[in-house]
Amino acid sequence: MKEVCFGVDIGGTTVKLGLVSREGELLDKREFPTFRDVSATFDDIARHMRLVMESFPDCKCVGAGVGVPGPVVDQSVVPICVNLGWNDLNVAQELASRANVPVRVANDANLAALGECWQGGGKGCRNLVLFTVGTGVGGGIICDGRIVAGATGGGGEVGHITVPFHPDWQCGCGRKGCLEATASATGIIRAAKAFSPFKEMEKVTAKDVYDAAAAGDENAQAVVKEAADALGYGAAIVACVVNPEVILLGGGVSAAGRALLDPVEASFQANVMNACSKVRFAQAQLGNNAGIFGGAALFFSE
Ligand SMILES: [Zn+2]
Repeated sequence: MKEVCFGVDIGGTTVKLGLVSREGELLDKREFPTFRDVSATFDDIARHMRLVMESFPDCKCVGAGVGVPGPVVDQSVVPICVNLGWNDLNVAQELASRANVPVRVANDANLAALGECWQGGGKGCRNLVLFTVGTGVGGGIICDGRIVAGATGGGGEVGHITVPFHPDWQCGCGRKGCLEATASATGIIRAAKAFSPFKEMEKVTAKDVYDAAAAGDENAQAVVKEAADALGYGAAIVACVVNPEVILLGGGVSAAGRALLDPVEASFQANVMNACSKVRFAQAQLGNNAGIFGGAALFFSE
């Protein structure tokens, strides 16, 4: 019998649920709304799991790996999740009691890193760091094939390393001067807004700034370089601690491809110590499915 596992990515508004084989094939994927009520949410997830399994009668489900947008302790308990209004919730117990399969839980960004390590841009490696650059900067750290979640589930918050770029810029986490404040799309837009033509534009996107940089606008080029410098600086700090084989850039801003990877790598090499400098930089490959693969990897990759 073919062994399969569910990857479940619970977001603030939607749940993404995928069925993945031990070989890493995504067999089924569906999305449905997240309910405000905890019981309703887990009832619905368990119901969808049963529906999916009806279509795969020859498969044996070994478990469900769940991602949530908050810290996770002991692959089960979420102390607090602001997005979902959860407090001290044993997510593993909630779902396992309804779905009758073993359940393991992780932070969604950490789970994306594990998914990329198992079947994405870091396939075949055991030590990886993912930076997800979008509205914020998220990510995760995989050491020896396992998520670094830490004592209270706050491990892998690579976006909140302090970097010496804009010490006064407010970050979403409540502190100032984080990598996220400078290198996220939000930071790129904020920096670009100091210059024409962005100053006069009502709505600027990070892509506008990248496009202007590619077209030769020197101010845009300086903004893009600074964001890349900050990412390389942050990556060098993480590398000195965990010595990864691969550093992946994902998220919306990473669509810039080599235009982002190359300057990030240059900054990384300028800031990292020699013993930790042998790193391959690449783009993340799984996009929105990274969390689903990560959930399956909690059962299949260890
Ligand atoms: Zn922060």
